[in-house]
Amino acid sequence: MATGLPSAETLFDQLADAVYLIDPDTSDIVWANRCAWESLGLNREDVLDHSVLSLQKDVHGLPQWSDIADAIRGTGCFRFLGRHRHQAGHEVEVEVNTTHFELDGRAYFLSVARDITNRVAHEGSGQSREKQLWFALNEAIDGLWDWEVDTGHLFFSPQLKRMLGYGPDEMAPRLDTWAGNVHADDSGRVMAVLREHMEGRRARYEAEYRLRNRNGHYIGVHDRGRVCEYAPDGQPRRLVGMVQDITERKALELRLQNLAAFDTLTGLSSRLEGSTFLASQADLCQRLSLPMGLAFLDIDHFKAVNDRHGHLAGDDVLRRVGRAVQGAVRSSDRVCRWGGEEFLVIAPDTTLAQMTDLAEKLRLTVGAAMAGQDPAVTISLGVAAAEGSAIDVTALIARADAALYRAKQAGRNRVEVGAEL
Ligand code: GH3
Ligand code: MG
Ligand code: MG
Repeated sequence: MATGLPSAETLFDQLADAVYLIDPDTSDIVWANRCAWESLGLNREDVLDHSVLSLQKDVHGLPQWSDIADAIRGTGCFRFLGRHRHQAGHEVEVEVNTTHFELDGRAYFLSVARDITNRVAHEGSGQSREKQLWFALNEAIDGLWDWEVDTGHLFFSPQLKRMLGYGPDEMAPRLDTWAGNVHADDSGRVMAVLREHMEGRRARYEAEYRLRNRNGHYIGVHDRGRVCEYAPDGQPRRLVGMVQDITERKALELRLQNLAAFDTLTGLSSRLEGSTFLASQADLCQRLSLPMGLAFLDIDHFKAVNDRHGHLAGDDVLRRVGRAVQGAVRSSDRVCRWGGEEFLVIAPDTTLAQMTDLAEKLRLTVGAAMAGQDPAVTISLGVAAAEGSAIDVTALIARADAALYRAKQAGRNRVEVGAEL
């Protein structure tokens, strides 16, 4: 460099585009210019702690990166449109050009990202109404497709490609590109719904299913569409539709389901989950003519624990009792937190005599777990079992509950047995 001229680094910092130097193997950013870190709302040091994956809204995980890295290596300059996440929470539309080179035996990717938010907004505003609509459908709505039935040509909007991790020039516009990526377990159902709509037996095509993305992982999608053009003979000629990414919604549903299925304090099954298990196991035992045992278990004088030692110590006792009981049953049995300091043990294929033995074992196990502890508690148990052909779950629960009541009456820290059903 001639003397008197600014250093390369200084010049890079004056650039209006973001420049990233990337390690192709790890996807880590090894250097970035001022525009790069400023446009992400980071400072210079922070940006070096990031992998480029964490910047990209639509790229998930190293396997997908390794596919992208291969595509970059295979071209002189790899271009794609994407969205970068700003620290403040919003997204920045970017056009990224990536080149690759080697220096001293080490490979690098050099990415130049241009913020095209304004251009995108402008393209959307200064045009005819039809163009605006087309823009909105392409860019604002999750994903759009347009299928010409006769030719099999299937248009995928840029958003749809982005959702699946593909670049603008990838994804052959054919029906089989889509059909081949629908999860095998969902495919039959989805195709049936599509066929029924095309045959006029359904008002529209609508399905939730799993769609494979570029790295081979599946995302959850909600897809809906309808025929928009018919041939003179009444056959569908063209269908359009929209695809929405519902992966996050599905994950949330699963979390909510787990929250409902598990008791957050003890990690045991919740009452809801216990009731479902009880009903299904009762059906199964009845069908196979197997007995089924139940035990209600209640901590003795638990209120006094809370009163003397505080609620947190009480919570701890609940967890310890739960752990001890869970550790003493068979894996085919289910322990659930029925409410407060009351647990239900459900034991399929267990006679009244076996259930009584198990209840006594649980009483001793909790006793042993409490040895030397302060606070320490005992438990009372009420046992019931059904050994006949018909299993009445409500009657079984009532019997175990009545037996528990007797155990409390008789002085606690004991097992009482209900009459066989
Ligand atoms: P008994 O021997 O007759 O069962 O007496 P008890 O004191 O155990 O029974 P009672 O039903 O009078 O009191 C139960 C107590 O359990 C009252 C309630 O505040 C407490 N409890 C219920 N759920 C929780 C919880 O999640 N954490 C704590 N720490 N206490 C709880
Ligand atoms: Mg109690
Ligand atoms: Mg109670």
